[in-house]
Amino acid sequence: MRIATLEHQGRRRVGRLTNDGRSIDLFAIDGTRGALALIERGNAALPAIDGQVALAGARLLAPLPQPRRNLWCVGRNYHAHAKELRETVFKDNAADVQSWPIVFTKVPETVIGPDADVQLPGAAVSSQIDYEAELTLVIGQGGRNIARADALKHVWGYTIVNDVTARDVQMRHAQWDLGKSFDTFCPMGPWIVTADELDASDTRVRCWVTPNGGSEELRQDARTSDLIFDIPTLIETCSRGITLLPGDIIATGTAAGVGMGMKPPRWLGHGDVVRIEIDGIGTLQNRFVQEGA
Ligand code: MG
Repeated sequence: MRIATLEHQGRRRVGRLTNDGRSIDLFAIDGTRGALALIERGNAALPAIDGQVALAGARLLAPLPQPRRNLWCVGRNYHAHAKELRETVFKDNAADVQSWPIVFTKVPETVIGPDADVQLPGAAVSSQIDYEAELTLVIGQGGRNIARADALKHVWGYTIVNDVTARDVQMRHAQWDLGKSFDTFCPMGPWIVTADELDASDTRVRCWVTPNGGSEELRQDARTSDLIFDIPTLIETCSRGITLLPGDIIATGTAAGVGMGMKPPRWLGHGDVVRIEIDGIGTLQNRFVQEGA
């Protein structure tokens, strides 16, 4: 199933894409928290359908527009990306790969939906805004100390996140959260594909940037089989001593080809558009606009 959250007749609703992908069947449940209402039902039968809207023209929101707490995010988790950063940014790193994943968080208020604009904060705050295309998993059944072997049973589904980052702020602080948590810095969508429909261990992740007035450039093109720490390992790591809750989100890290890794680096500017596509999920596209413009 593809589970979408949308604005419909002034209300937030959650629904399921029809098999032909042209419409959304609306569930007769409170859609305020998007797909979270559905996730929390666990194994209960799906809610009744009380309407249908065409996908064309539907105003999609992030599938989890108000995550209940910070999003877990993984840093430097593709072999090729670790290599590109060692050559450009983290030159003092002896090895591409560390023993444990880097995990940081983004605050839930960063989340915006497909088609919403990312706000560039102005040069006084940051002049180095970058994209990060990421396969992202959503926890279904919660748990603590989840073993690697059981981890996939806890995945409810997958979506796409653009882990937008202010690089200068990220690098200024030992912890990355500040540079990752600016308002609007977490486009998410276009929907959640339930875990039964995607083999996330090997799918293609691509990201294009269209500079304002320019033509589209493919910047990231990777397969999730290049992940340093795979999804079961990430769930095992994040649940170590910490109870994961239904609806928790883990962004699995980005691939090579970020703006920071280019020579010279290329930052996002007003009017640029970033489009991310993950095979088996869909497309997430957002424009970047200067605050106040
Ligand atoms: Mg990231």
